[in-house]
Amino acid sequence: MWLKLKKRIAKRGGLLITAPSIAGLVIAANSLGVFQLLEWATFDQFFAIRPPAPVDPRIVVITIDESDINKAGQWPISDAVLAKLITKVKAQKPEAIGLDIYRDLPVPPGHLTLVKLFQSTPNLIGVEKVVGNAVPASPTLSKLKQVGMADLVLDADGKVRRALLSVRSGGEVHLSLGTKLALMYLEKKGVKLQLIDKNKKYLQLGEAVVVPFTGNEGPYAGANAGGYQIILNYRGSTDSFNTVSMTEVLNNQISPDKFRDRLVLIGNIGTSFNDLFFTPYSSSLFTSPQRMPGVLVHANITSQIISAAWGEAPFFRVSSPQIEALWVLFWSLIGGGTTRRLLRVSKQKKPAILPQWLINVSSIVLWGTILIIGSYLAFLSGWILPVISPIAALILSAISSMISRYLELQHLVNLDGLTGVANRRCFDEFLHQKWGLMAEKMNFISLILCDVDYFKKYNDTYGHQAGDESLRQVAKAIAKVIRSTDLVARYGGEEFAVIMPNTNPEVALKVAKRITANVKSLQIVHENSLISDRVTLSCGVASMVPNLTNSISELINIADQALYEAKRQGRDRIIVAIIMQEKKTLT
Ligand code: GH3
Ligand code: MG
Ligand code: MG
Repeated sequence: MWLKLKKRIAKRGGLLITAPSIAGLVIAANSLGVFQLLEWATFDQFFAIRPPAPVDPRIVVITIDESDINKAGQWPISDAVLAKLITKVKAQKPEAIGLDIYRDLPVPPGHLTLVKLFQSTPNLIGVEKVVGNAVPASPTLSKLKQVGMADLVLDADGKVRRALLSVRSGGEVHLSLGTKLALMYLEKKGVKLQLIDKNKKYLQLGEAVVVPFTGNEGPYAGANAGGYQIILNYRGSTDSFNTVSMTEVLNNQISPDKFRDRLVLIGNIGTSFNDLFFTPYSSSLFTSPQRMPGVLVHANITSQIISAAWGEAPFFRVSSPQIEALWVLFWSLIGGGTTRRLLRVSKQKKPAILPQWLINVSSIVLWGTILIIGSYLAFLSGWILPVISPIAALILSAISSMISRYLELQHLVNLDGLTGVANRRCFDEFLHQKWGLMAEKMNFISLILCDVDYFKKYNDTYGHQAGDESLRQVAKAIAKVIRSTDLVARYGGEEFAVIMPNTNPEVALKVAKRITANVKSLQIVHENSLISDRVTLSCGVASMVPNLTNSISELINIADQALYEAKRQGRDRIIVAIIMQEKKTLT
């Protein structure tokens, strides 16, 4: 069993090294933000293809656009008009009113009326801007602590994907407008915010646990996680909210209980008010990107908090970096493993219906699709999984498997199947290459041809399989004594050749001696050999300095003749032929 396991590990050894290496590389690249833009794009697409959520029945947005301003006849709209609008809303007894319009300065006429209205409306929340170029809240609302922060966090590509719930500034915690409205709403229903982990800043809100964004989760790498942020699970764009225009409210064109028990947000939506933001919904392949009015982003934040507390729509959850790393590793293994398996199968079944590369590419595309669909389903249930980094691991691992398999095949093409030394093809290539090199360097190249003595008899005595085994041993014994710059090849049936560049006849003879001695030391019994009771070799050695008058075939011929001479003289010996005319006998 242990052996079996060892064999399996050896078989998959490459994969067990490359897959984690590629996963490591991808994780490192991810932490440097290499995939961030693509991760964001995928994240945005998930929002775009998600079926729209039903309109949030708890929220109504009063919109103010250019035509409303025209009718009001003044910009900014006067305190009197604003007071009239709020009075109408207030009359319907809404749960709370969020006024997403900066009102730090009086806009006459009607300032006093508005101030009085502010003072007598405890469920009205105004806005301030805290981070960067601060904009103070209305002094009246500020005194009454009826202020929410209107700040939004933009990603590096200018989109709002996160909600800033609170910020600590000037020794005070500033809650965002959406957070404040949602908490007011929930508190009235008996749901309170509770701190459940002081160190991690985990909060419990109804059925939801709020986990602060730390900058590296989901599609993010190294983002600024200042304040208390979450990745915003948008409810939707304009269609997911009840909206009425300011003019409709002022002209009493709405039902008398439109705002009753609801959260009412009032904000500018016109393009000229500079309160528009790019969001995941802005991405479109076919139209120019649409921006979302700030008041709708606040409505989304409010809706998200309340829905999460009620258990209707979760806050996004992300897995730990360790789990994300395992996820990437898993896909790296899938990419490498699938490709290897396919390549192995294709080796066994000869006639392939489809070209190999097409099968490989299709299988990777299939796995990639499964990964994307899986991530999308996870997204629908509130989990953000990295998509691009596992895809990168999948593809890179598949490519690396293909390359390593190609190199492996390339290597196998040059090897002799029985003995594992180089084959004839490789011999020819190596000899040509080195011949040219030695011609340039005007240096000796030597060739030893070795032939097993009375091998036919060996086969006859011990059987072909035993013959094969002894050939393997002989090949190993030869390979063991040659230098790394030399090459041993199976030249024919029981014939081996050793090519030695930069080797003069004296050294070649020494190597040949070592070869025959090493083979002898194997002590392979050969009782029917006519010369010894062990397996022996006969060797023919030829050395030449390549020049214009000689050739490779001449070198081989001379070595062959020397080998023949060794056989003729009785076998188990070495004959060195320095040049054609001159032969030296050695035993
Ligand atoms: P000698 O070289 O000493 O003159 O005698 P020999 O018997 O070795 O010569 P010969 O070339 O006539 O025979 C070579 C034999 O090697 C014939 C064949 O059965 C055997 N042989 C060749 N290739 C293989 C092989 O791959 N496996 C086995 N088992 N035998 C092989
Ligand atoms: Mg022989
Ligand atoms: Mg032979």
